[in-house]
Amino acid sequence: MYKVSILGHIGYDYEKRGRIDVSEHPFTTNFGNKDVRITTKYDTSDFRPAIFSMIHEGGHGIYEQNIPDELEGTSLGSGALMGMHESQSRFYENILGKSMEFWSYFYPKFQQTYKELEGVDIISFYKAINYVEPSLIRIDADELTYSLHIIIRYEIEKLLINSDINLDDVPGLWNEKYKEYLGVEPKNYADGVLQDVHWAGGDFGYFPTYALGNLYGAQIFNKLKKDIPDWNKKIYSGNFVPITKWLKENVHKYGATLKPAELIKKVTGEELSAKYFIDYLNDKFGKLYGV
Ligand SMILES: [Zn+2]
Repeated sequence: MYKVSILGHIGYDYEKRGRIDVSEHPFTTNFGNKDVRITTKYDTSDFRPAIFSMIHEGGHGIYEQNIPDELEGTSLGSGALMGMHESQSRFYENILGKSMEFWSYFYPKFQQTYKELEGVDIISFYKAINYVEPSLIRIDADELTYSLHIIIRYEIEKLLINSDINLDDVPGLWNEKYKEYLGVEPKNYADGVLQDVHWAGGDFGYFPTYALGNLYGAQIFNKLKKDIPDWNKKIYSGNFVPITKWLKENVHKYGATLKPAELIKKVTGEELSAKYFIDYLNDKFGKLYGV
């Protein structure tokens, strides 16, 4: 059976400087740039959480493995805050990982591993992995509705921090906002307010980094496409080296020596703008859904 080594292809070194384990909520942890570990999770009835959370964490891992040795052991030897970190993970997970170019290369190999996909053509597969549907679980959400999950969490944590609500109000408010913004309502806490590890671990104010990451990622991608005009041909043929090299040279090599606002300007020549992410969504989902 062909082994689908997606992470190795996109540039995550899991043989010498990394490893992959299993956890309920996938994450990346590292001890310098030579020991960068990631986790993924498995759902035996659905390959998507495993594949896309692995590519997501792989994006974080590539960033940390590409931090230059000169910065090792200093407080600058890491990514430029989490918003920029999430831009890299979400770039690999979504912009690359859910693109037709990406799967044109991997899908035939993937079908050899997952026999259930034998009769499924690539167009149907591409539509399925980009299917837009309001849902309960943030990490499984499609690109279009994803940011609504973040807005809900951000609004609730702002109310909490300002003491405008009590802790006991959170589960009810969560359900109300899911109904209002996404039209769905969790039946239990596991599919609702307890689905993430962030608040329980003290990470208040973290969620917006994912939405910021979407914006940084799309703006960086726009510049990457100008510098590597045949980026899609390279991915079609499974050659991710120029892309990961470009990210290393333009983003990763700075570690935390620049703040995200400085870094985005250095990379793209502009301040952060939502325009590129909105254009990206309009283009991709406009084509997918014919709107
Ligand atoms: Zn992440």
